[in-house]
Order: sequence, then C-alpha cells, then structure tokens
Amino acid sequence: MPNRSDTAILARPAATRQAVPAGPAAALLAWYDRHRRRLPWRALPGESADPYRVWLSEIMLQQTTVKAVGPYFEKFLKLWPDVEALAASPVEEVMKAWAGLGYYSRARNLHACAKTVAIQHAGRFPCDVAALRALPGIGDYTAAAIAAIAFDQPAAVVDGNVERVITRLDAMAAELPGAKPAIRARVAELLDPGRAGDFAQAMMDLGATICTPKRPACTLCPWTAACAARAAGTQEAYPRKAPKAAGRLRRGAAFVVVRADRRLLVGTRPPKGLLGGMTEIPGSAWSADFDLTAADEAAPVALAYRRLPGVVSHVFTHFPLALTVFRAEAPADLAAPAGLRWIGFEEIEGEAFPTVMRKVIAHAL
Ligand code: SF4
Repeated sequence: MPNRSDTAILARPAATRQAVPAGPAAALLAWYDRHRRRLPWRALPGESADPYRVWLSEIMLQQTTVKAVGPYFEKFLKLWPDVEALAASPVEEVMKAWAGLGYYSRARNLHACAKTVAIQHAGRFPCDVAALRALPGIGDYTAAAIAAIAFDQPAAVVDGNVERVITRLDAMAAELPGAKPAIRARVAELLDPGRAGDFAQAMMDLGATICTPKRPACTLCPWTAACAARAAGTQEAYPRKAPKAAGRLRRGAAFVVVRADRRLLVGTRPPKGLLGGMTEIPGSAWSADFDLTAADEAAPVALAYRRLPGVVSHVFTHFPLALTVFRAEAPADLAAPAGLRWIGFEEIEGEAFPTVMRKVIAHAL
C-alpha cells in the first residue's frame, strides 16, 4: 500500500536529487522485519513497546554503545521495574547504579524525569513530542525517539546513525551540524506514518549494522539502488563534518589518603556541573594553566604525600584531563576534614565514583 511519504518523494523534481524508487519505507521495513536486532529494551514483533523501557534505554544510549548499556539496563529494571519505583528511590541510589555510564547529569535528570512523570502524569509518559520534550533530560532527539518507538507517532528520529545513512543516500554536501534540519526533513519525508516506531528503529539498525562508518555493506542494503554515495563510490566521505576545535588539555592533582584501618578519604562533588553529585577523590581544580609546584595547596589534610609516577589521563566530551596523583598514609584515628568522609575499601565498588576517579584509585591503590 502506498504511503504519504512515498508519494511525496515521487513528486519531487528529479533534478533535486537522485530519485528513491517507489516504496523506500516499504523496502526498509521489509528488511527490518527480517533483520531487526534483538535488544533487551525492544518489543518483540506484535508486542506493544513499554514507554518506560524505551525512555530508560534512550537516555542510557546517549553517547554510549548498545553493548555498554545492556547490563545497566538490566540492573535498572531489576532495581526499579517501573517509573514510579524509580521516582521513589533516593537520587543517591540512582547515581550509584549509574556510575560507570558517564554523563552523570543524565542520571540526575533521569531521576527528576521519573518524579515528574510519577507526580504530574500519574506514572504514564505523555505520548506527543512537545510534552515529552518538556520533561527533564529529554531533548529533541529523545522526545522524537520515545514518541515514535513507544507511541508510534510519526516523529523524525535522527541520531548519528541516521545522519550517516541519509547523508550518504543523498550524497549531501552540507556539513554537520548545519545539515541537521535538512536531514530531519528528509527523514520526515521518507518515514512510514503507519509504522513510525518500526521505521525509526529500522533506520537505527541500518546505520548500526549495514551503513557503518567504515566499509558499509552496501550490497545488503535495502536502499542500495537509490544511494547517491554508493553510485559515486564515496560512501565513507559522508557525513561531512565541520572541523571541531579540540578542547585544551586541563591538568590537576588528586590526593589519595589511605587510613591505617583501610579507609579512603572521599568527598561529594557539588550537585550541578561536571560529574555533579558523584563521589570524588579530593583534589585541585582542573585548569589549562594548573601549576603543579603549588599542588600541595589543594591537599585536603596536612600529611606527608608522595607523588606517584605518571599521570591519570581521561577524556571528557569537551576537554582531555591529566591528573597527577599524590598518596599519603594517615593514622586510624584521623578525623575527616569538613565536607569529606572516610569509606572502607570494601565500599569503593558500590560508591558513585565516575570513571576518572576509579582510574585515580586504580593508579594509587
Ligand atoms: S547503499 Fe551503502 S552507503 Fe548507501 S545507505 Fe546503503 S549501506 Fe549506506
């Protein structure tokens, strides 16, 4: 059966771009019906999608791989089987369970969103893009993804995979991020409003499994005949990207203080900002002009510190970081300075340490 998007594409002037053959959505969906990925959060054919699972997975998957998210998704579902259970949990517990996934503001927003849905929406996610977009931690992409996948709304869902497929399909010369509106418009034009959720997931799967960044498997692609980049043999040239200024390296110091009774001195980062609310090893501020010779001014307590060889390197989204680590031994009766606390070595694993702090601990212990 023809759909609205097919009609719209066939009606385009042939000169504007290479014509996609009749039924591009149908071809993609037929491929998806045969090759869809089985994912823990994805409804099986014939099942209704669970908005809570869709939302949870989409938040977790932002800038993280499917493989990395799997165990976290299972853990969250076990701890909090529905949005109301998650909303009722202390935020600290959610942060702890999230530790290791990165981008910790997402965990805080996840909890805030759960509370909003539980309190303001009686535990049910709204189904339209605008209402979803108004929830904490839900941006344009996530709102569209939930609306499409959980509620079959005809929303144009565009992530990095979809950007790659579309820019190749049309050999789009425009660079990202400026090309985003044109890509979204193209997806809206292509999608099948009768199977919007499946279409969105099919696009994601195509980008993840066939139209891969390197050596796309074009012979297996349902759009191979229509693809302008394939015709020109320039698949890997897309998407074009505007050059990005690399963040400047920041440096800093971290102080690992170990008490004789096998306890570690830790603090909690302020709730807002980078790694907000996470547990940290005390240390200096991080800056491009950090002065290592004055690092001892940032020591949390006066002790005989020794500088450990090497540095701990970590790359955040906007900047790389190099931390010099100092270690000191403290007597068992040393009280924690104001704002800090001792935790037992056996508690380290369960603490909400971000990855960079786990690297510091591994470097020092
Ligand atoms: S034909 Fe190749 S480059 Fe074009 S959309 Fe399909 S996999 Fe991607």
